[in-house]
Amino acid sequence: MTDLNEQIAESKSFSEAVIANIRQPLLVLDKSLHIVSANHAFHQVFNLKTTETEGALIYNLGNKQWNIPSLRKLLEEILPKRKKITDYEVKHRFPDIGERTMLLNAQEIIRHSESQNLILLSIEDVTDANKADEGNATLATIVQSSEYAIISKTLKGIVTSWNLGAEKLFGYTRAEMIGQSILKIIPPDRINEEPEIIRKIQEGETIAHFDTQRVAKDGRLIDISLTISPIKDNNAQITGALKIARDITDQIESRKKIEASEKRMHNLIYSSPSAMAILDGEDLVITTANETIINIWGKGKDVIGKKYFDVLPELADQGYREIFTGVYKTGVPHNAIEMPVRFLHNGEPTLNYYNFILYPQYNMNNEIDGIGIIATDVTAQALVNKSIKESEERFRSLTQTIPQLIWVTDAQGNAEFASSRWKEYSGVEPGGEKEWEEIVHPDDYAGINESWMKSLATANVYKSEVRLKNRAGDYRWHSVVAEPVLDSENKIIKWVGAFTDINDQKLKDEKKDEFMGIASHEMKTPLTTAKAYLQMLELTLSDTAEEAKMFALKASQSVDRLNELIGELLDVSKIQFGKLNYSMTTFNFNEMIVGTVENIQLTSPESIIIKTGKVNGAVMGDKNRLQQVVINLLSNAIKYSPHSESVFITLAQEKDRITVAVKDTGIGIAEQSLHKIFEKYHRVEEHAVQFQGMGVGLFISYEIIERHHGKLWVESEVGKGSTFYFTLPVNGVQQSE
Ligand code: ADP
Repeated sequence: MTDLNEQIAESKSFSEAVIANIRQPLLVLDKSLHIVSANHAFHQVFNLKTTETEGALIYNLGNKQWNIPSLRKLLEEILPKRKKITDYEVKHRFPDIGERTMLLNAQEIIRHSESQNLILLSIEDVTDANKADEGNATLATIVQSSEYAIISKTLKGIVTSWNLGAEKLFGYTRAEMIGQSILKIIPPDRINEEPEIIRKIQEGETIAHFDTQRVAKDGRLIDISLTISPIKDNNAQITGALKIARDITDQIESRKKIEASEKRMHNLIYSSPSAMAILDGEDLVITTANETIINIWGKGKDVIGKKYFDVLPELADQGYREIFTGVYKTGVPHNAIEMPVRFLHNGEPTLNYYNFILYPQYNMNNEIDGIGIIATDVTAQALVNKSIKESEERFRSLTQTIPQLIWVTDAQGNAEFASSRWKEYSGVEPGGEKEWEEIVHPDDYAGINESWMKSLATANVYKSEVRLKNRAGDYRWHSVVAEPVLDSENKIIKWVGAFTDINDQKLKDEKKDEFMGIASHEMKTPLTTAKAYLQMLELTLSDTAEEAKMFALKASQSVDRLNELIGELLDVSKIQFGKLNYSMTTFNFNEMIVGTVENIQLTSPESIIIKTGKVNGAVMGDKNRLQQVVINLLSNAIKYSPHSESVFITLAQEKDRITVAVKDTGIGIAEQSLHKIFEKYHRVEEHAVQFQGMGVGLFISYEIIERHHGKLWVESEVGKGSTFYFTLPVNGVQQSE
């Protein structure tokens, strides 16, 4: 009995010790649900004293906190119905300690007498644990519904979770992957990645933004970016890895596109013959520069990554920093044409000319983040332009210093330039519409216009004399010469002309001409008288006085010659004053030639005149004047071929004209004199000493032929002889046969 009592006492103290020490709140209730005992944990959790609990009805505890209807029902059924309460969760707001969630377990404690059976109620405060679970649940929902593929796996690579995002990305369902090896989605050529990942994870490292490829269920390779972090258990042991995968196929695609476009741009810049560079940011850091521009800078290849004006301080000195800043700030590109720029090459200044553009570079947000440079070295062109400019200036100042009035027209004769002297002289702005009408003497205007048009059409040197009105309104004689300027293909591109004031000279000449006219006129009369007396002397001298008769004949011949000479001078004077008269008749041209040849042959037996060809018609013209021309040409031919035995005259009849050629094999005429010999008083200087003459024969002949609407010209070669031609139009020729 004692043993039994001892056993009971032991067991009682054992259970009391357990109840007292356990960290979970415990209550022992009797069948009327009064508290038999409450442990330390209960008092502590619910903030009660022993005096408040012992013998108290559970429902009355601490302001009837425990009077919870659902709890009452359960508690009141434990003993009568032998029921248990298992993990019953009650939420209750306690005035002292706020809302708590409790997990209740209760069962009967069987005593030797049934009426003394008790209830053991254990109360677990799970408020915090529940909160954590709630958090976990929220997290799980997020994970499950995330767009990203979120996968967890063990350190052996066995998949332990697989969210919707992963299903979508890889095409495997959760059921297909959980418990499977992660290798299922790793392409064979990347299988080595896995051990490396696991190794890092084991070391507690997180792998962020690891770009790789995985293979989907349908075999497709997917570009993904992975972030992998270790999973730790409650004891901070690493047990697995959490992978977050993001599909970056599109991103890679667009990156490839950007790379391709960058490559194209790179190629463009590096293969361009233009100098190109890109400067980044406000500091203008050189990020791209092709070889051409690097050579222009002359600072070596090692300039990438450096600030532009650190590399090229000489440009800052030339004011370019402000220009670059301007482009950067305003976004307005800066264009420069043939701009002189000095670079220092190994300390040596170089000067070159560039066309360049500085343009703003924009980033993705459309903000300026740099400057692009495109430049072309145009030094050669610039120097040419410069020298053209200089030569133009020289020309201009030359035209101002010389007394001539210089002018330039285009190929069609439209004024392009007139020296400032032109305006000084005329007071008229060059290039004006009525310029010529205003300045050229009305009597000269038509003629000068016609001959100018002729020169423009034929590209022949233009030569004339014209009266130009000066500021004061007086006309002064000017000679005008204009020459065409030809291009490399012999096409006229310009005419350059000059007016020279010849007024004083002209007045002198006019005086001289006037004098000559008067003198020869005055001489004519006494000469005619002398000739008449000589003829009478000849007749009155007896045949015996033969010598005296011969003297008289010679004197008479000289008077004839003198008469001819004076006649020529008179002709010149008449031509000069437009008084040379023509008496037009119809005559046999051939006969006139034959007669003239015979006459000359008589007076000049030293040379045989050979006539060939014939014209068949009568000519309408002044017979004496045309004869004068033939005499002139034939006697010149004889005179200027002193060592030849013969001269030739050839007639040719054509449809619309006749041509007469007078040829000699004499001394010839130098090229530069050819166009001058038809001028009044002109004699080729080299001939003047040896041959007598006044230099008026060809002048008169030219005038006569012109008045017959014909042409007179010469072909000649020094030492070989000359051929003078003249033509007469056929409308002046009447068929006689
Ligand atoms: P001139 O009285 O001097 O002969 P012209 O007017 O007849 O005057 O000729 C002008 C110039 O042309 C001559 O002085 C001479 O130099 C040159 N000339 C004319 N005809 C010939 C010719 N047949 N051969 C060489 N020179 C000539």
